[in-house]
Amino acid sequence: MSEAKFKQNVQNSFARTKSDMYNLYEHIQFLYREIEELKFRNDMMAQKLSILRDSVSIEKKVPYTERKDIFVSSRSSSKVHKESCAFAKNIKAVNKIRFESESEALQKGYKKCACLST
Ligand SMILES: [Zn+2]
Repeated sequence: MSEAKFKQNVQNSFARTKSDMYNLYEHIQFLYREIEELKFRNDMMAQKLSILRDSVSIEKKVPYTERKDIFVSSRSSSKVHKESCAFAKNIKAVNKIRFESESEALQKGYKKCACLST
């Protein structure tokens, strides 16, 4: 290998290394921007989560006696009950259907249990 050729090879190697380093630098900059973006999204999610947690804990703080009546039925029944009815208490959680009001249940075709007719 001639001295000129050797010099040329060394220069080419340096040039490639330099360009690799620029590329790496750009990749790193890009990753930093991604990290910032993810941090931002994480903050937003944390904020939403804390709002959700607050709303759940507010619901839990409402004493049972102050809640409006809950009306329930079973998937295998056509009767609607107060949640406090003995029949309602026998309905398994997986089969339980809840209604916001008695009229909602009636509109959907459910019949009143004796616990509601008095
Ligand atoms: Zn009932």
